[in-house]
Amino acid sequence: MFKNILVPIDLAHVEKGSSLVKIAKDFAKKHDCKLTFLNVIPDFPAMVAVEMVAFVQLPKDLPEKMSSITRAKLRDLTKKNNFSASTEVRIEHGHPAREILKVAADIHADLILIASHQPGLADYLLGSVAGKVVRHAHCSVLVSRQAV
Ligand code: ADP
Repeated sequence: MFKNILVPIDLAHVEKGSSLVKIAKDFAKKHDCKLTFLNVIPDFPAMVAVEMVAFVQLPKDLPEKMSSITRAKLRDLTKKNNFSASTEVRIEHGHPAREILKVAADIHADLILIASHQPGLADYLLGSVAGKVVRHAHCSVLVSRQAV
């Protein structure tokens, strides 16, 4: 049924025990589909970024360093969970919901598998990222309600 699934991963949630990866694994088994794991590294606001490089002396290539560390973490995750070699890993920088929607369009995903945790009052039913993805995606979205 679904052949091309995008799985946006927030690594902090995975570290806390999110079961999104397990659900992705079940899907991959049942549907024999291609999976793309995506992590979006949020941009620092421009002004903060300038200040940080100038005064805190952070390396100018910090974004590239963060990309390669994050890529390694996602690769690790797919290896540990025995995903097939065709499983892809993508890292983007920017606004998480926007980048998730962009990558979904770019890879022609037919399903986005996303988690939602305990929404605050501001996001009554869904967390902010999941809510935006559900509202704007051009493909199906499966939201897994997570306890963590
Ligand atoms: P919550 O329900 O925790 O408030 P969000 O709606 O902010 O959550 O995020 C829910 C899901 O959106 C995450 O579990 C993950 O699937 C995806 N997501 C959030 N942030 C990112 C990110 N930076 N990169 C990739 N996916 C993300």
